Amino acid sequence: MAVEREMIFECQVKRRRVRATGGYEPFWKLKSVIEAIEDSDTEFRCKDCFGAVKLNVKTIAEGSVRHMKHKLRTDSEYCVSGLHFRAATDGRQPRISQTPVR
Ligand SMILES: [Zn+2]
Repeated sequence: MAVEREMIFECQVKRRRVRATGGYEPFWKLKSVIEAIEDSDTEFRCKDCFGAVKLNVKTIAEGSVRHMKHKLRTDSEYCVSGLHFRAATDGRQPRISQTPVR
């Protein structure tokens, strides 16, 4: 039986923009995972719970669909994008990561 895998296709990437008062400020931009890879972004987080996510490198090597997954199981358990959250049957509510990436 195939193991269901967590597949996230959109993420937020950390970018910098010019601040009106001068200098730069960081902000989070929503992108598809494919775009983020093409743009060589290095800082990612989940768009729903702001938790840490990681690229599925093995899947890239195989040439199949590029995606991300939560680094922490606890994020996956309480995020609308999380495999464990969707599998839960206790009517739980999603929440922001307890260790959000800032
Ligand atoms: Zn999440």
